[in-house]
Amino acid sequence: MRKLLLLLSLLPLFSQAADYEKVSVEVTAENLNGSAYYVPGLSGAATEYEGFISNAGFIVTNEGVVVFDSLGTPSLAHAMRDEIRKVTNKPIKLVIVSHYHADHVYGLQVFKEEGAEIWAPKGAFDYLDSETAPNLLDSRRTELYPWVNDKTYLVEPDRIIDQDTEFSLGSHKFLLTYFGKVHSEGDMSLLSLNDQTLYSGDLIFEGRIPFVGDAHIIKWAEALQQLSNVEMEYFVPGHGMASDQPQETMNLTYRYLNFLIKQLSAAVDEMTPFDEAYTAIDWSEFEDEPAFDVANRKNAYAAYLYLERVL
Ligand SMILES: [Zn+2]
Repeated sequence: MRKLLLLLSLLPLFSQAADYEKVSVEVTAENLNGSAYYVPGLSGAATEYEGFISNAGFIVTNEGVVVFDSLGTPSLAHAMRDEIRKVTNKPIKLVIVSHYHADHVYGLQVFKEEGAEIWAPKGAFDYLDSETAPNLLDSRRTELYPWVNDKTYLVEPDRIIDQDTEFSLGSHKFLLTYFGKVHSEGDMSLLSLNDQTLYSGDLIFEGRIPFVGDAHIIKWAEALQQLSNVEMEYFVPGHGMASDQPQETMNLTYRYLNFLIKQLSAAVDEMTPFDEAYTAIDWSEFEDEPAFDVANRKNAYAAYLYLERVL
């Protein structure tokens, strides 16, 4: 009888684990400051390393856990959940989504199913209601199979944040800064005030050329200016290593965006065709940075089209 009871009590554990295909990449939480942790993704393209190419984080308070971003597959989120469980048994109360890009939101279902509330910046539904969202999920079900599969679904936020918002959980205080359409259709950062740790989402790519895509780069550069005035001890970028040198961590993205704006604004002003402008620009300051070859021309073209629209 005792054996049977033991078996029954273990059943939910087994069935939960079976829902998510195991990952072979190592998902490890690092403690930064006080109760602030982050899970550093690897440096690679969207479908490399089983999709483990972005960062996420979590903060443990006396009343529960606040998670920041959910990684690029439910399997990765489940591995992150296991890391949280090594630190605390407290409930996961809240997931803050920096922005709706696949590599930050595909793990949401794991936390939602556990009862966490999901908060996301205004603009989340621009993504969720777009054609890109189901199309990308379809292709990721092949490219990231079996970690993204038929059981993977997009989770809608429970609450939309459209202005700077302070909140607390237990004795812990937090500040959400809403930036509007910056790197994506809506971005926000999370500052854990008790730990002086800032989670920036994709406002910052450390150690590699950022993904510009559909970004609004002038506003993005302005947001970085704002970010550089925040008082903090630790900085966690959306991609790349966290550090206790925030200005250094922000440096590459800041320089790169301002370079794109300066060079391509001049080209748009002079009505120089893109190809001609691209070839004439001296990229040597950035050409040795990781992801330059795959990202730079696309970024420059996206920036050119954007500047043509807004200048
Ligand atoms: Zn992104």
